[in-house]
Amino acid sequence: MTVIEPPSRVPIMVVAAHPDDMESWCAGTLVRAIDSGATVRLLLVTSGEHGTSDPADVPELVATRREAEAQAAAQRLGLAEVAFLHYPDGDVEATRSLRGDLVMWIRRWQPHALFTHDPEHPWPPYLSHRDHRTVGRATLDAIYPLARDPLAFPEHGSAGLEPHAVREVWLFASEAANFYVDITHGLERKIAARLAHVSQTSEPAALPESWRARVSTIGAPAGLGCAEAFTIVAID
Ligand SMILES: [Zn+2]
Repeated sequence: MTVIEPPSRVPIMVVAAHPDDMESWCAGTLVRAIDSGATVRLLLVTSGEHGTSDPADVPELVATRREAEAQAAAQRLGLAEVAFLHYPDGDVEATRSLRGDLVMWIRRWQPHALFTHDPEHPWPPYLSHRDHRTVGRATLDAIYPLARDPLAFPEHGSAGLEPHAVREVWLFASEAANFYVDITHGLERKIAARLAHVSQTSEPAALPESWRARVSTIGAPAGLGCAEAFTIVAID
């Protein structure tokens, strides 16, 4: 295992299935990247409209609330932009349409590094969310080779978008993770961003302590008191 520094002074893109996934898995690393000069943009595939325990809730209203929470969380972290694809929560399929949307946003934002869900070795094993696996797989397919190749989705060219080669993929929620980032610096903003997801937080007073315990557990194998962990794929 390797302790690694986050990317700095480069454009970073995050693709996540649900509005609070980024906070759970990589927000501490992103805070460090932002504070060392990186620009981070977030693409949310769904708006998490099934994220409620109240059967009387209206999905469209849940989505609106959660999009506002995602914007508030992004502001606390210092993200440059958040965009929403509005695919159905719990029902994301790896369609050509989804790949095309992902390719379009990769070509628009031109990231050096892209953070997304690990689709091959997801955490937790066996019980990972289906949307996480689907989004991770579709995003990797969009990165390589589709976004790079000019003859894939050539209609983007008439919209002024150039093909783009992502150089590094940082896979989060990964059972196989072996790269660790010390997030001592980013932890408080990671927790503050998570607390912006008010509708998803039943016990806000208890959350900071449980999250400190969680990042301590994640960091322990690397000898770090406070960490996030990734599988990293470099693309030549
Ligand atoms: Zn999720």
